[in-house]
Amino acid sequence: KLSAENLNISFGTKHVLKNVNLEFAENEITALIGPSGCGKSTLLRSFNRMHDLSPDAKITGSLKLEDLDLYSRTVPVTEIRKRIGMVFQKANPFPKSIYENIAYGLKINNLPHDKAIIEKALREAFLWEEVKNDLKMPATRLSGGQQQRLCIARAVALRPEVILMDEPCSALDPVSTLKIEELISHLKEKYTIVIVTHNMQQAQRIADKTVFMYLGEVKEEGYTSQIFGNPLNEVTANYITGQF
Ligand code: ATP
Ligand code: MG
Repeated sequence: KLSAENLNISFGTKHVLKNVNLEFAENEITALIGPSGCGKSTLLRSFNRMHDLSPDAKITGSLKLEDLDLYSRTVPVTEIRKRIGMVFQKANPFPKSIYENIAYGLKINNLPHDKAIIEKALREAFLWEEVKNDLKMPATRLSGGQQQRLCIARAVALRPEVILMDEPCSALDPVSTLKIEELISHLKEKYTIVIVTHNMQQAQRIADKTVFMYLGEVKEEGYTSQIFGNPLNEVTANYITGQF
């Protein structure tokens, strides 16, 4: 399980996450929802140590994957990013062939990278049948939805425990979006999945649990059916009915 305990994050004087306590269980999809600027991406990135890059970031509290302290200085960031994969709003394949996009990530992590392993990752991301005859084609020639599935394949190739997704479908058309939703629902059999989304229908279609964030705090969390069917907090109710 992935967890945040008493997590506080500030950038300079800006207090962005306020005492966040959350647990994400294996084989579950959790949707993170809330208005723009409430801290969803900041939270997601903290699990991947992406704030290592911001010199003014101050992080207190604890972030863990099982017993592993994600901020322990003895744990290399490469190890964390292998165990916790991340997929972004804008698909970001390497400027390489489809094949090399998967092989490269495996190589830099010192993992075997023969063709069978690449095929397995592409199959797992529901992409193999569409690309098996074009493995040498530059990945940037794929459609947006295919590029996003390639980025998912690149993450699953490393056999992570967790996959974090920050609005993975918001740049995609409805058909590509449904295809990725189907894929994400399938992936939960193997991984812990956390997805940030502004699409309330999407959260209801795929998420087991939903976390509503507001102004840097977790306002409400629970089963998706409860959050949407019977929100206990007035702010949650207003947000999910679009009164923002
Ligand atoms: P959206 O739905 O628009 O993506 P969000 O919920 O993902 O919003 P965040 O990107 O987490 O919001 O941003 C939360 C707040 O933290 C914003 O006020 C943002 O300006 C601020 N913030 C995020 N990263 C930094 C940074 N590196 N330096 C300073 N402020 C930051
Ligand atoms: Mg964001």
